[in-house]
Amino acid sequence: MRLAVAALHDLVARVLTASGLSETNAAIVAHTVVAAERDGTVSHGLFRLPGYLATMRSGWVDGHAVPTITQAAPALLMADARNGFAQVALAAAREPLCTMARDLGMAALCTSNAHHFAALWPDVEPFAEAGLIALTVINSRSRIVAFGGRRKVLGTNPIAFACPRGDGPPMVWDQATSVVAQGEVLRARQAGHAVPQGVGVDVAGQPTVDPAAILDGGALLPFGGHKGATIALMIEVLAAGLTGGRFGFEDRSADYPGAQTSNAGQFVLLIDPVRTAGAGFAGRVDALVEALRDAGSERLPSDGRYARRAAAMDGIEIADDVYAALLAAAAG
Ligand code: NDP
Repeated sequence: MRLAVAALHDLVARVLTASGLSETNAAIVAHTVVAAERDGTVSHGLFRLPGYLATMRSGWVDGHAVPTITQAAPALLMADARNGFAQVALAAAREPLCTMARDLGMAALCTSNAHHFAALWPDVEPFAEAGLIALTVINSRSRIVAFGGRRKVLGTNPIAFACPRGDGPPMVWDQATSVVAQGEVLRARQAGHAVPQGVGVDVAGQPTVDPAAILDGGALLPFGGHKGATIALMIEVLAAGLTGGRFGFEDRSADYPGAQTSNAGQFVLLIDPVRTAGAGFAGRVDALVEALRDAGSERLPSDGRYARRAAAMDGIEIADDVYAALLAAAAG
């Protein structure tokens, strides 16, 4: 089954509306789900929809939430997502944030009381398309053990970066601070595959390649040992400590059986590069990219995603059973 991107967006938005999101919020969340599916971030595309639906059924998220945005300082916006999805708060703040970044050279957004269950790159890519450098981090419920600890405290806390280029679409990268995103471990369990060595540990803290052992009482490991853990720690401080959001270890989703999202926070930083580097900034990034390619790096971050996006111009391939489930969910 092959569906045009717009048709899939319409269908996913109807599924989300049927699950209890307002039409406005459903359209925003559907955009991130379909963008991930289109660009091949499969751990956060259609694969996540059952998680959204289970979470909505649990009553853990307010699908009709209307975020409040306040100006905390000349270059600083605060958003209270009101227990809704983080992308809805970002959508409400996007325009004033861009204006502040252009007027002041930089701007930041601190979002609390927010659920982020998606890939992070769709949050930042549009800023770079508008000529700005964008960095964002979110925290999630505790999922990794770090620094030789006995318990999970930090989340898989992803970080995404986007910057404009002169010749071509923005350079964007987006990654979990665990060796692999938890979604990949869920996918491995669903497919009955082992995960690679080094991805996680079981309930006793012993290394395992069994995804179920990692997910059921075990833990993920940070990428790069203590160095990845320090990044996850920084993200916990920026996304929760700074914003007033919950730390991962303060998550209360267990009180809502079936809930899969984390009520946490998001930090977004925008910089207008023209203020420091002038109009030649994008060309300088091109020169850096060229140097990497000359050195033999044929595949740079976002190359894979843009190639998959181009392939999806003819439509997105969807398994028949997934399509049938989408139609059934949209019918309510
Ligand atoms: P990956 O390891 O798949 O990719 C990370 C980045 O590295 C991407 O930008 C990717 O580019 C780039 N990349 C991958 N392979 C190469 C290569 N061989 N050479 C150069 N660059 C490469 O991502 P993760 O598994 O860590 O994360 C997957 C998704 O999970 C992310 O979108 C993340 O935001 C999301 N996530 C969401 C969470 C949440 O709570 N909402 C929590 C944790 C993760 P390219 O895009 O071109 O493939």
